[in-house]
Amino acid sequence: MLLAFYIVNIDPSGHSPARIKELVGEATSGGIGSAVYWKNRSTMGAYFREIFADEDNNQFKYLFGLATMTSDIEENSAGKADWAVQKLIQAEKDWEISFAIGIIGDRLIPGSSKMGVLKPGPHASKSVPARGKGRDFTKDERDKVNEIGNDTGCHTCGSTDPGTKSGNFIPDHQPPNATVPNGSPQELYPHCKSCSSQQGGIISWMKRKGLIP
Ligand SMILES: [Zn+2]
Repeated sequence: MLLAFYIVNIDPSGHSPARIKELVGEATSGGIGSAVYWKNRSTMGAYFREIFADEDNNQFKYLFGLATMTSDIEENSAGKADWAVQKLIQAEKDWEISFAIGIIGDRLIPGSSKMGVLKPGPHASKSVPARGKGRDFTKDERDKVNEIGNDTGCHTCGSTDPGTKSGNFIPDHQPPNATVPNGSPQELYPHCKSCSSQQGGIISWMKRKGLIP
């Protein structure tokens, strides 16, 4: 239930590459004199204004013009239209990744600290070097992670109650396994059960969306 809430919450768009192509396609077919052109331009414009953080929305207008081959700034071509559509799709993808990470640029999205699961969280203090992506933790590694957890809490939410049956904190690989190649340096931070399962849900969501391999 809680997990579903977070997943819905971090999918701000309801847009997708297919949806962007559809809206651009309708506008292109309708042409600059059609109602659908201006309707879709306005729908997408409201959305991309946030993505580009551009009050005048010039970046979006420029790309939408090229994408629909109605630009009055540059000569239009099918090649440039494809390029502009790809730019819009990429911008949306980057934005969704930002949301999943809970960070835009250097700014934490308000209320999103719990989503910050792809990097050490706001309560991260010390960590233990990971030997690899495996979960075959040694007693020494477990003890150290528990010690940090008892001291400064779960790295994401700060709880000093791990919420697990065993009473152990869950050693959390950072960066998460799914986001780095084998052999990358990783650290282990204490995670509580609830944050760990939220992280699992967010990572599967990102995989489904194709945001990470
Ligand atoms: Zn937690």
